[in-house]
Amino acid sequence: MSNTMDSKSLPPHIALFPSAGMGHLTPFLRIASMLLRRNCAVTLITATPTVSAAESSHISSFLHEHPQVKHVGFQIIQLPHSKQDDPFYLQFESTRRSVHLLHPLLSSSSPPLSAIFADFFVASSITSVSTKLGIPHYLISTTSVKFLCLLAYLPELISDPAKFDHSFTEVEISGLTPFPISSIPPPFKDPNHLFTKTLLQNSRALSKAKGIFMNSLQCLEAETLEAVNNGGVLSHSLPPLLPIGPLELYEIKTEKGQYMTWLDRQPAESVVYVSFGSRTAMSREQIREISKGLERSGHRFLWVLKSSKVDTEDKIQLKDLLGDSFLERTKNKGTAVKGWVSQPEILEHPSVGAFVSHCGWNSVIEAARRGVPVVAWPQHGDQRLNAEIVQRGELGIWDRKWGWDGDKELVCGEEIEKKIREVMGDEKLRKMAKKVGEEARKAAETGGSSEKVLSEVLEFLQK
Ligand code: UDP
Repeated sequence: MSNTMDSKSLPPHIALFPSAGMGHLTPFLRIASMLLRRNCAVTLITATPTVSAAESSHISSFLHEHPQVKHVGFQIIQLPHSKQDDPFYLQFESTRRSVHLLHPLLSSSSPPLSAIFADFFVASSITSVSTKLGIPHYLISTTSVKFLCLLAYLPELISDPAKFDHSFTEVEISGLTPFPISSIPPPFKDPNHLFTKTLLQNSRALSKAKGIFMNSLQCLEAETLEAVNNGGVLSHSLPPLLPIGPLELYEIKTEKGQYMTWLDRQPAESVVYVSFGSRTAMSREQIREISKGLERSGHRFLWVLKSSKVDTEDKIQLKDLLGDSFLERTKNKGTAVKGWVSQPEILEHPSVGAFVSHCGWNSVIEAARRGVPVVAWPQHGDQRLNAEIVQRGELGIWDRKWGWDGDKELVCGEEIEKKIREVMGDEKLRKMAKKVGEEARKAAETGGSSEKVLSEVLEFLQK
């Protein structure tokens, strides 16, 4: 680990401020741990109450392991809502609108803060806090560079509804490779959708940040990074993008899950790991088709199931979802888990040979880190654009015909079986994915491209 900072001046004190969901908290905790390893002082701001139990338990464990981190539990103002509202979208917006209450909680920080690293989802309101404190703020993006570009372009896209009419099949952002309009999340077509409104507010404020940290890799997104940082693409809406991926993992002492012991007993690269992230629930019908696909493929599998968006509501038992006979028939081939698993540990395990993933960006980068080939099965949000990056970067395969979000037709067991056989049998893909893994390791090691970017920012903040 490099520590090029001048020993005479104090290392910077950074306040980290994630927004809602594990997909946001996880990269912030990773960056917190990277900063601690570089001797920075760290303040962690977390909105309370959290949406999921996973968030509160990870925050507690992290603080327990790192008692030197100062914690600011930030009581946010809950917005009026109805039962149909997505709890994560609501929390994004409630947090964004509560930020004006944050300044007094930070103003007497000791040593004084050097910078705030905040979530994209508070971009619009964090500026007033950093200005009052007289310090810069950086944003941490939890998505791909490509999707971030789409977000920066969103105000323009939405200002012209004709762009969504049937004569347009592609989104063209000058200087970037166009992408199909079918990869845009359906809520973007409705300017009154809560998610779209929150994103729009934040998108308009991106340029106020000193830079945006990206958990991305040159080898996956070189073209887009180059277009923004050196080609001036979206220069009126974006500050410099700072690629620091793959983020280093942090360790929390937990009991070894039974699924890890099961993985230990499997041959190298023989297991298909199936998971759709922290907040994607599959329908019962789709779960049945996945079970068919896995069983028919004949490959070993580790399958993590979620049947509700928020973990505290996820009460259905595994056997009620899968049936005793499936569990009995496949007991020597696979293991199914309900609840939280340590995904980074799973992906690092030598028995894992492929990953069926929704392509949440953290999951993509975790797969890239170890060079595990991916079957991309995007479900919503940024995931179709992310899947395209996976496919182009030769980290995995993607069948664009598999529906998503508003267009979620059932993917049948036979198709799933075919894709699993394809990914497990494709030696060339395996090699290419491993190459991505090597690039990722190089970027993160001392003197690597990502490590240098972070060191330079910290040196700047120390002055
Ligand atoms: N994750 C995990 N265990 C789980 C579910 C998710 O460790 O059971 C982690 C996963 O490794 C990733 C994050 O939670 O770091 C999920 O983020 P991602 O962007 O992949 O998807 P999201 O959950 O936001 O859709």
